[in-house]
Amino acid sequence: MKRKIVTSYILILLVGTLTTGIFSFSFLRNSYFANMEEKLLSYGQLITDSLLMEEESGDLRNFFWLTQKFAQRTRVRVTLLDESGKVLADSADNSIIFINQQMQPEVQLAMRGEIRSIQRTDDTTGVNSMFLALPPVHLQGQQMIIRLSDPIEDYMQENLVFMKYVFMSILLGLIIAMIVGLWNVGKITGPIHVLSEAASQLASAKFSTRIHIRTRDELEELAGTFNHMAERLETMISQIQAKNIQLDAMLSGMTDGVMAVDASGSLLMMNRELQRLLPSKMNLTIGSHYQETLGELPELAHLIDETIVHQQALEEEVQFEQQHQPRVLRIKSSLMRDPGRNQQIIGVFLLVQDMTEIRKLENLRNDFVANVTHELRTPLTLISGFVETLQQDHELDEDEQKTALSIIELETERLKRLINDVLTLSEIENMQAGGETKKFNALLEIREVMEWLNPLAQEKSIAVTLEPHEEAVLIEANPGWFRQMLANLLENAIKYTPESGWVTLKVQVADHVLHVMIQDNGIGVPDEEKELIFQRFYRANRNRSREVGGTGLGLTIVQHIVSEMKGTIKVSTPESGGSLFCVCLPGVVNSQSLNESS
Ligand code: ADP
Repeated sequence: MKRKIVTSYILILLVGTLTTGIFSFSFLRNSYFANMEEKLLSYGQLITDSLLMEEESGDLRNFFWLTQKFAQRTRVRVTLLDESGKVLADSADNSIIFINQQMQPEVQLAMRGEIRSIQRTDDTTGVNSMFLALPPVHLQGQQMIIRLSDPIEDYMQENLVFMKYVFMSILLGLIIAMIVGLWNVGKITGPIHVLSEAASQLASAKFSTRIHIRTRDELEELAGTFNHMAERLETMISQIQAKNIQLDAMLSGMTDGVMAVDASGSLLMMNRELQRLLPSKMNLTIGSHYQETLGELPELAHLIDETIVHQQALEEEVQFEQQHQPRVLRIKSSLMRDPGRNQQIIGVFLLVQDMTEIRKLENLRNDFVANVTHELRTPLTLISGFVETLQQDHELDEDEQKTALSIIELETERLKRLINDVLTLSEIENMQAGGETKKFNALLEIREVMEWLNPLAQEKSIAVTLEPHEEAVLIEANPGWFRQMLANLLENAIKYTPESGWVTLKVQVADHVLHVMIQDNGIGVPDEEKELIFQRFYRANRNRSREVGGTGLGLTIVQHIVSEMKGTIKVSTPESGGSLFCVCLPGVVNSQSLNESS
């Protein structure tokens, strides 16, 4: 820019000075030649007048003498020619007498009656001169032409000197103008450079850029406006960024997936949850068209289409497989409208909710209700059947009546147990994590449960033993749940062990984790059912299990309790046969705490 300004500055100056020089030069030249022409003309007329006067007075001397006299007086060269152009006399050079000058342009002009000066080189002197010839006058019986000439060589010399001065002053002017121009241009371009630097910094998102220019002119004003603009821009950008951060935080904090497409169908925004919920094969990228992106889930693209076509919010449930697991999504679409007066549709907004767990729970609940109903129906049918028999058949003997009553009692007991187990299960499920905890000695609880189930074991002559453990095991947990868990496992071990069998309990502590192992030499759990026995109402060895009168909820309750206590349970078949249930529970308090608490 600086170069451009300086170049144009110099060009203007050059053109200005050159035009002034050329004009003044040609003006001076023209006025010089005009003056000279006038001088020659007036001298010529004076000479003509005096020649005419001298002829009248009869005093006309010879032409040589006259031309000499006139030349002395006027200091110009005077030549007298006859009408044919022959030289009669010449004040400077007599050698040209009788040489015909007819072809000289000034003589030609004079012969035509025109008075105009001619500049040309004098043939005799070889000097550049101005010639002026007057139209012919009648003298001494013949037509005569008076020609005057004066060298202009000196003038040309003067002109050269003048031109030299003009050129030098132009050069000097240019140098000065260049220095001053550069200095001045620097004063303008310097702040402009600062401004342009600041503008490019602003363009590269450095919004804290400010400039300080003290030129006390429009540039300073411009700098002020720039700073004001940068300040406003910085505030606006930081506000937008803060809003974006809030929006991002809101979107990523949402437990539902959200997505928006604009009127042209390009993906405007989405959150992380949406990417987690939709099939992993989908390549969701901002700016891509929804019909290409949602190809893996055509129902979703279709819902967007329908929303646009019908211009109303819609809802749909979509099912697909994600890593071999079924996934259910509820998708709600709504129209995004321009809040302005025309309420134009500017896109479609989608809310994607994960319904997999809800649907799974609903299925579980339905299965559970069906199972409970089924489990209730069998004992109730038996009870009502025997009650009917007792009421209607009066011929039953005492033994038959006793058998009927004992069956009614057994089935009532089964019903009670079923209802109790259902209640316990729902209690555990509804309880806050871990329930109410306190520190207690797990060994004491184990012994208590053993004692409580002793009659059942004695009934079947099963030996229940606890491998000796020297110290007390203080654990922080819910004692009620702990007892329930142990009772279920021990009761199962006794139930599924034939008469005269054995059940052994072992307790170990490692890294604050309590390991309880309950082993029996009973019927055992087949390998393919080891995972399944923890499901509600599942019974391995179906017929045998029903015989022993289980509800199928005991191990479900155990697993719930263990997972609430952040522990694990595993079932295996020991080499000696039967089954081995291992429960690991964290929360064992160290010996110091044991001393403190005791
Ligand atoms: P149930 O009330 O039928 O005992 P559970 O949930 O306690 O229900 O147990 C589920 C099934 O697991 C039982 O029906 C039984 O087939 C099997 N089972 C549980 N404990 C044992 C065990 N110690 N030995 C063999 N099978 C067992």
